[in-house]
Amino acid sequence: MHEAVPRPFEEVPHALLRKRVRDIASGVEGELMAVVREDVSDTPVRECWVKLAYVRGPSGREISTAVANIEAADLFPRLPVPPDSCAECAAHVSERFQAQVERDRSRVSDMNVLIMRHHPELRARR
Ligand SMILES: [Zn+2]
Repeated sequence: MHEAVPRPFEEVPHALLRKRVRDIASGVEGELMAVVREDVSDTPVRECWVKLAYVRGPSGREISTAVANIEAADLFPRLPVPPDSCAECAAHVSERFQAQVERDRSRVSDMNVLIMRHHPELRARR
């Protein structure tokens, strides 16, 4: 008998659960259904835990993405999204995300200024 061994995972609380969010990596907007810590390693010997956010998009299909890519969709529309390759801006994005969760608009706009200063091409796309 072959039974799939369920991957270990645990749900973690998140301020935006059941709220409208945007995945800044793909641009998909939808409802944040769950945030889970999942072991994504392919061997039980070496564990590799990541935090994933599950977002139900308009089609009803759920996508999973890194928690750091999730932002509130309603609060601050059309935020500048820096390229993934920029580590400096990745730090700004995660601070901006935290500021959004705390509804700290001035810190959000500070982060936007830093990101757009670093990537002037984002300014034109707004
Ligand atoms: Zn940058």
